[in-house]
Amino acid sequence: MSYNADEKGYYGEFGGAFIPEMLYPNTEELRHNYIRIMDEPSFKKEFDQLLKDYVGRPTPLYHAKRLSKKYNTKIYLKREDLCHTGAHKINNTIGQILMAKKLGKNRIIAETGAGQHGVATATVCALMGIQCVVYMGEVDIARQAPNVARMKMLGAEVRPALSGSRTLKDATNEAIRDWINNPVDTHYIIGSVVGPHPYPDMVARFQSVISEEIKAQLKEKEGTENPDYVVACVGGGSNAAGAFYHYLDNPDVGVIAVEAAGKGINSGESAATSVLGKVGIIHGSKTLLMQTTDGQITEPYSISAGLDYPGVGPMHAHLYRSGRGEFVSITDDDAMKAGLLLSKLEGIIPAIESSHALALLEQKTFKPDDIVVINLSGRGDKDLDTYINYFKL
Ligand SMILES: *Cc1c(COP(=O)(O)O)cnc(C)c1O
Repeated sequence: MSYNADEKGYYGEFGGAFIPEMLYPNTEELRHNYIRIMDEPSFKKEFDQLLKDYVGRPTPLYHAKRLSKKYNTKIYLKREDLCHTGAHKINNTIGQILMAKKLGKNRIIAETGAGQHGVATATVCALMGIQCVVYMGEVDIARQAPNVARMKMLGAEVRPALSGSRTLKDATNEAIRDWINNPVDTHYIIGSVVGPHPYPDMVARFQSVISEEIKAQLKEKEGTENPDYVVACVGGGSNAAGAFYHYLDNPDVGVIAVEAAGKGINSGESAATSVLGKVGIIHGSKTLLMQTTDGQITEPYSISAGLDYPGVGPMHAHLYRSGRGEFVSITDDDAMKAGLLLSKLEGIIPAIESSHALALLEQKTFKPDDIVVINLSGRGDKDLDTYINYFKL
């Protein structure tokens, strides 16, 4: 079985491109060109150079000794928290801004919920001197003031989405409308392994640098490229796709995806998409998503803004349905505890998204000689207020 996208962008039964007719030319241009451009030596050279000198790659693979001792297994942390801007998202936005340049685009649009992807996009637009418009729900703009300020400092225009619930899905609709109206000069940067083909595959390829590095780093430290398990949190699924990518065809490496259970899977306030989701179409792709019996998308909930997404990328829907991936969900409370524990045991304050992946260690017992790589997708600076309020610090 293949775990990568086929020519039409399908992962098993999931994926594809379910888009309005008027968007067809935009995605077709990308589909026809993305692999060819990514394979060009000049593209690779500039991408690798920026990942090294601007993002700060390779990120360390750190043997967390005190954490390993507590859980009686061998734990490595892949330190995506040390990337410029504090998370893995920049790997993808660097890739896409170079793609946009190769396609002759001089304007970037994006949508953002919590603002993390908006900041990563505004950052690379500043880097390249390219105009940047970020759509964001009016409600999210009010909730996420620091990220709105960051985007403005970086020179981006933040446009409020005023329709519907005035959150992420409304911002997405506005971005799509903009792209339909500006098919020639504009590239739409999507922030996870979601959206119509070729986005999930393109974003997974950009993020695959994570597992490429893990292989080389483990080889050096352990004499083998292969851990027993790779663990990552899943919102849309881009950090997980990157951490799993080069291991998907190797059945000796277990891949574990951790979703946000919010206040509990059956609480009605959750974002455990693969468990609770049914097949449907979101953001132009056929995947598992949380919906009512008549197909309305359900509002997701998680204490972590980055995991608060009602769908999951088609790669992950396929990993779940095929059984290749083990899917686990972690509550807010367990994630918060795991975040505090890592801070105290290793001196690393993780993003709350990443804390979900860490909380797996309480839920699953590994063998003492297992090698477990946990992808630490981001740092906790952005979440300090949430930690303060939760722990009454
Ligand atoms: C955005 C974000 C996530 C979730 O996005 P994926 O596409 O699922 O990786 C996870 N961790 C951090 C730190 C994030 O900022």
